[in-house]
Amino acid sequence: MHIYLYIVAAILFLLGIKRLGRVKTARSGNLVAALGMLFAVLGVCVEAEALSWVWALIAMLVGAGIGYLIATRVAMTAMPEMVAALNGLGGGASAFVAMAEQIEDSSVLTLATFGAMMAIAVPASIVIGMATMTGSGIAYLKLQGKNLAHPIAPAQRNLANAAIGAAIVGIAVWSVYSTGGWSITAMILLTILSAVIGVFLVMPIGGADMPVVVALLNSFSGVAAAASGFVIGNQMLIVAGALVGASGVILTQIMCKAMNRSLLNVLVGGVGDGKVAKDAKDYKNIRSTSPEEVAMLLDGATSCVIVPGYGLAVAQAQHVCANLAKEIERRGCSVRYAIHPVAGRMPGHMNVLLAEADVPYEKLLELDKINPEFQSTDVVIIVGANDVVNPLAREKTGSPIDGMPILDVDKARTVVMIKRSLSPGYAGVKNPLFELDNTLMVFLDAKEALQGILDELKTI
Ligand code: NDP
Repeated sequence: MHIYLYIVAAILFLLGIKRLGRVKTARSGNLVAALGMLFAVLGVCVEAEALSWVWALIAMLVGAGIGYLIATRVAMTAMPEMVAALNGLGGGASAFVAMAEQIEDSSVLTLATFGAMMAIAVPASIVIGMATMTGSGIAYLKLQGKNLAHPIAPAQRNLANAAIGAAIVGIAVWSVYSTGGWSITAMILLTILSAVIGVFLVMPIGGADMPVVVALLNSFSGVAAAASGFVIGNQMLIVAGALVGASGVILTQIMCKAMNRSLLNVLVGGVGDGKVAKDAKDYKNIRSTSPEEVAMLLDGATSCVIVPGYGLAVAQAQHVCANLAKEIERRGCSVRYAIHPVAGRMPGHMNVLLAEADVPYEKLLELDKINPEFQSTDVVIIVGANDVVNPLAREKTGSPIDGMPILDVDKARTVVMIKRSLSPGYAGVKNPLFELDNTLMVFLDAKEALQGILDELKTI
């Protein structure tokens, strides 16, 4: 019976992932995948011998209750941290499952009784799961804006990581050849070193490379789950873990492309360590303006592009932004949205925000589609975006955003930049766009500024 439930779950997972690929169908994709998870859990309950259905039901209700509370209470701006935390918990759970198996069977599990598959799956689950857990913990803190100091000097970091990596491989081999107390000792050492490497790998990654790390950790949590599926012999866990692992790898590739970095470069390059550049607030030629003036500018425009960024999420200005776009269009000016793949703090962040405000999907244009259009655009309104429009990325200055493809907003006739101050974005670097002759700064909270422009526009 359980196998049929697993097959239904796997089909629902696949359908769910397919629907997640498009903004229009993403919401229903989420529901379909969640339904798949329910079938998977029921399958596990049916498969388990001597299961108490009462306890299983209690566990499901408690889990669902916690999930409901977290999902409904988390602020939209804290979503990236929540995703990082969930990745970490997934990795940790897989590691603990493998540890429990090793502790339970430590007296009998040698390579001969283990079999080659288990000999790989148990240490892999512990190593990948623990590294994912601690790495995600560091990503969580970094996304919260915490400045974390790496205990090892930059020049020695790669060497230290290589040494820990070699020790992990050695101890993993030892763990599958030993029994009893030695097997447990090896497991404890493996757990500690894996936790340390997770911290060491993620800690130096700052600047603008975090999107790659978030995607990679997501993939790792899937791989750890698949490995623990082998450990406890559960096909469903293997399928679900493999799906998360594979989709995470694809997302990692997309994010690497968006940052114009190779994965190796992100992991060992350590470009940018979360520090703010000294000259980040040094500006000479700043022209600031008011919502009234922007409204007048829009009154005479025929084309407008809105560039949303992290500040839109902070201000929760997506609804007023959509209303302003409708008003501009009502006056005969075309409006489109330019979406940078790493805008915000999680993959797809801007799409989620704008979908919440019912912005039609066709109006969201990606980097390669919108970039050739800026030259013929009258007004670009940048709402709380900074790094993704920073022309410094085009120059070879060694900054954390070097080589990152950006939205070419500086080519438009007029650029209106809404942000509260001259502070830099996530990468902590100066943005020469602020000083260009065609840039006008509106130093206000995004919601306040957009509402002000909308109110003024209605009076013209
Ligand atoms: P940035 O972080 O570069 O800039 C956001 C800007 O928003 C800030 O300069 C800030 O300026 C402004 N802001 C903040 N709050 C408000 C507010 N209430 N009203 C108006 N403005 C506000 O954002 P981008 O979206 O341009 O770039 C994303 C960055 O985050 C990239 O460097 C990316 O690599 C990184 N990142 C992306 C992830 C992803 O998966 N998408 C994950 C992790 C990191 P001020 O304080 O002056 O208002």
